[in-house]
Order: sequence, then structure tokens, then C-alpha cells
Amino acid sequence: MSRPINFCSGPAALPLPVLDRISAELHDFQGSKISVMEHSHRDQLIVRLFEDTEARLKALLGVGEAYRVLFLPGGATLQFSQVPMNLLDGGTAAYLTTGAWSQKAIKEAAKYGHVVEVASSKESNFTTIPARESWQSPADARYFHLCTNETIHGVEWFGSLTGLGMPVVADMSSHLLSRSMPIQEMDLIYAGAQKNLGTAGVTIVVVKQDLIFSSQQATPGLMDYRGQIANNSMMNTPPVYPVWVLSLVLEWMESLGGVAAIEKINRHKAESLYQAIDTSSLYRNPVTKDCRSLMNVPFVLADDTLESKFIEASQNAGLLNLKGHRSVGGMRASIYNAITQQEVDTLIEFMREFERASA
Ligand SMILES: *Cc1c(COP(=O)(O)O)cnc(C)c1O
Repeated sequence: MSRPINFCSGPAALPLPVLDRISAELHDFQGSKISVMEHSHRDQLIVRLFEDTEARLKALLGVGEAYRVLFLPGGATLQFSQVPMNLLDGGTAAYLTTGAWSQKAIKEAAKYGHVVEVASSKESNFTTIPARESWQSPADARYFHLCTNETIHGVEWFGSLTGLGMPVVADMSSHLLSRSMPIQEMDLIYAGAQKNLGTAGVTIVVVKQDLIFSSQQATPGLMDYRGQIANNSMMNTPPVYPVWVLSLVLEWMESLGGVAAIEKINRHKAESLYQAIDTSSLYRNPVTKDCRSLMNVPFVLADDTLESKFIEASQNAGLLNLKGHRSVGGMRASIYNAITQQEVDTLIEFMREFERASA
């Protein structure tokens, strides 16, 4: 039986070579004769796994000593709270709204201080990102927050983030390490691993060492970034298994030639899929061209009564999870790093065939 192609937005497809390594090495982590999950996190093998994974991530991100990488539980969703818990302290923060994840982040931040929405693309149903000139940040804001790839709507920020005059915080959950990005322009970024980089259970937080934290006294110790930095993400028992899977994904990325090589593949995958959509008369992508996500490609059918048929036929053809998010409907293909050009070509071929058959 051939393996289905999983276009899920997350938890998402893992690279086959990574799954092979997990199954080959599960019983014996690095010659220790026990699995990674059974090791104490005080064990040198695990301490080294965390150090190595941090070093690999920093190298792939192109950041040096100025940054630390944390491996935290709670998903990107907990970062919606942890960021203001550590940076807001009753003050003002500037939030850009580019979609549903931005809105959730604002809702949580508002519990810790005053949130100013600097601009929103809600009126367009999040099919674009507000132009940089329209962002109106209050001068006294402690930080600026944005989601650089809105997974549900398929909009991605490709511009610069310099010159905002305050620390920049970014939710990069669904496109971190999909292409080279100016991480040096940002002070804190976060991403749940289960979209592009591994399995649920660990959230990557990359934080600039000179970022100034201010947290309220009632902030739980575990939620204080300073404590996690000082304890190398091991304030309590850390999610060792997802960190190991992350390390295997990073090694696989290195074997492909790193971020530049992966970016080339990703750009080609996205271009071919958007082109197939744009040149068909059945499918349509509503997003402004210069904001189209390379990772999440939503599309609607000109005849929406065909949607359930499309889903059923695609599932039967071994193309999984093409249904769009329940809040927006339509279809969505998530084509993260683990999805190959050949798999995207298979999807395009299926879409063409479906269009011919339903004409
Ligand atoms: C999936 C996602 C989240 C939520 O991630 P969890 O790990 O489920 O908390 C937040 N932001 C973005 C952009 C996402 O794609």
C-alpha cells in the first residue's frame, strides 16, 4: 500500500526519512540501550541533545550568540499568554491583525495590559496584510506583535520589520525554517513544532538575550522566560521526545542543503500550485498575490456544491486533509517542508482530473 499524502495544516506530515529514523532508533537512544523517553533530563545524553538542538536551530536560523532557543510546553497558544506575562506588565502593546491566530493572541494579551491594534485586514476577510505605512503603533508600546504566516487564511508577510522602534515579537508557527528570514530583525519568535518542524509537545521560542523582561509577581515560575533561559528549558521535566524528533527534522534539513535549498524547493512547490489554481476555471485563491503563503494554500471551488465531492474523491485518491479550516470553509493544502514537489504535482494532477471530470 502506498503512503497517502497528508496535506494537514497541523499536526502535519513528517519527512519519511525522519519517521524511518524514529522507528530504527526508538529502542536505543544513541547507544544507551534505552529509549530517549526513558532517560532522565539530567542525563548527559539528554543535556547534550538539548544543546545540540539549540545549536542546530541557531545555525539554520542564522542567529548567533545574541539569541537563546527555548523548548517549552503548551503550544504556540500558551505563548499568546506567556509573551505578555513577560513583556507587558500592565503597559501597552501594539498588535497587528492579519488573521485568526492574531486575533487569539490579542485576546490573551489584553488580560495583561492595554492592547492597541495597529492595523487589521479583517475587512478583506484576511486575504491581504495591511500595508506597512498603515501600521499605527503607539510610541509607548512595550513590543510589537504579529503573526508572520496566518495558517488558516494562507497569508504570509514577506516585508521587513526594521525600524518599528520597539521589540518585535512574531508567531512563526507555520513557516519557521521554510525559507530564509531576517530573524535578526526580531526580538522574540515562537513556533509550535507540529506544523513544519516536528511533533506536538514542544514550542520553539527564540529570544534575544538583551530583551528586557518585566513580569508581574504572580507570574508562575515556570512561565518566566528568565527561569527557562537560566535552566536551559529544564525548569521541570521537559518534553524530551518531541525535542528529539525536532532534532531529527533539523538533521534532515541539513542533509537537504539547509534553509536555502529548502526555500528553493518550497518556492517552486508553491508557484506550481498557485499557477495551477490561477489557470483553472474551477479553483480560485482569494489572497493578494504578494501575500500568498508558501506553506498554506487555501482555494475555493467556483461551484461550491462540488466541495464535498472534491473532499471525498481526494481522500479516495490518497490525498488527505484538504478541507479548509471550519471557520473559512473551502479547501486548503498545507505544503510544509516535508511535502515534496512530486507530492504537490500529484495534487495538481488530481485537481486537473477532477476539473475535467466535473466540467
Ligand atoms: C497552529 C498555530 C497556533 C497554535 O498552535 P498550538 O501549538 O496548537 O497551540 C498558533 N499560531 C499559528 C500561526 C498556528 O498555525
